[in-house]
Amino acid sequence: MKCPVCGSGKSFVKDSRIENKARYRRRYCEECDHTWTTYEIGAAEYESLRMTAMRTQGAAAIRDAGLMDQLRRALGNISDIQREIEARAGGGSK
Ligand SMILES: [Zn+2]
Repeated sequence: MKCPVCGSGKSFVKDSRIENKARYRRRYCEECDHTWTTYEIGAAEYESLRMTAMRTQGAAAIRDAGLMDQLRRALGNISDIQREIEARAGGGSK
């Protein structure tokens, strides 16, 4: 496998074991001494992880949308107050 840092193909596996249905591999690059981890999983496990990630991201997006609504309402109130202040200031300067 190519090193993600220097792109060298001179890497080897230092450690390998099964972890949560996945093949864990600790890899080492001979060129730049970089070490990194890879997990090899089956297509079914990959699909399950992908679906979980999509659900999590969807929930976060909905939560953020709720926050944006609150922010818009708050900003609306501020512009109402600003309009009122300007109206009063305009009335007083006559
Ligand atoms: Zn490297």
